[in-house]
Amino acid sequence: MRIVLLGPPGAGKGTQAANIIETYKVPHISTGDIFRKNLKDGTPLGKKAKEYMDQGLLVPDELVVDLVKDRLTKDDCKSGFMLDGFPRTVFQAEALEVELSKMDMKLSVVVNIEVKADLLLKRLTGRRICKSCGATYHVYFNPSKVDKVCDLCGGELYQRDDDKEETVKKRLEVYEEQTQPLIDYYKEKNLLVNIDGEGEIDKVSNDIIESLKERK
Ligand SMILES: [Zn+2]
Repeated sequence: MRIVLLGPPGAGKGTQAANIIETYKVPHISTGDIFRKNLKDGTPLGKKAKEYMDQGLLVPDELVVDLVKDRLTKDDCKSGFMLDGFPRTVFQAEALEVELSKMDMKLSVVVNIEVKADLLLKRLTGRRICKSCGATYHVYFNPSKVDKVCDLCGGELYQRDDDKEETVKKRLEVYEEQTQPLIDYYKEKNLLVNIDGEGEIDKVSNDIIESLKERK
């Protein structure tokens, strides 16, 4: 099974990724992990990527593709894989298709976890952290007993800048803008499966596994 997993921040992608790799026994391939590994091992590709990162630049598409391609040639990918965080653009998706076909492979499915923007916003802006002990809460899903006060130590709870509504909205907009063309691309190729990510975690997991049963 060769899977691409898509979903906005706050869609529960991490949990579902863990479930998919557990069920299908395929490696979880994320660009973040590939970067870290290549940097750590000081590979030629890693060194190239580092040049861009040191200058605060985005690693160009071609290099990202090379890094992923290199990862896909490893033995553990022979029986399948799950890509997470790649492809991000149609350019990368096209390059992936070309590289896979060279290896006589193609994608089985693209799983797109869908959650409406207002629920994502609720999930992503609700986190509160204790200034004293670092305990985390969520105003909707795991509230403290007393508003803005830590249950454990009585410390004051605050909201990280990253979790503020404006920042989260921006992040979701960027995701949407970047990902919609990719979703259209995979829909066209009949690879796309949309999964309703708004229900209970177990229900979403089951829906994903069910939808994968018809794919090879
Ligand atoms: Zn505390």
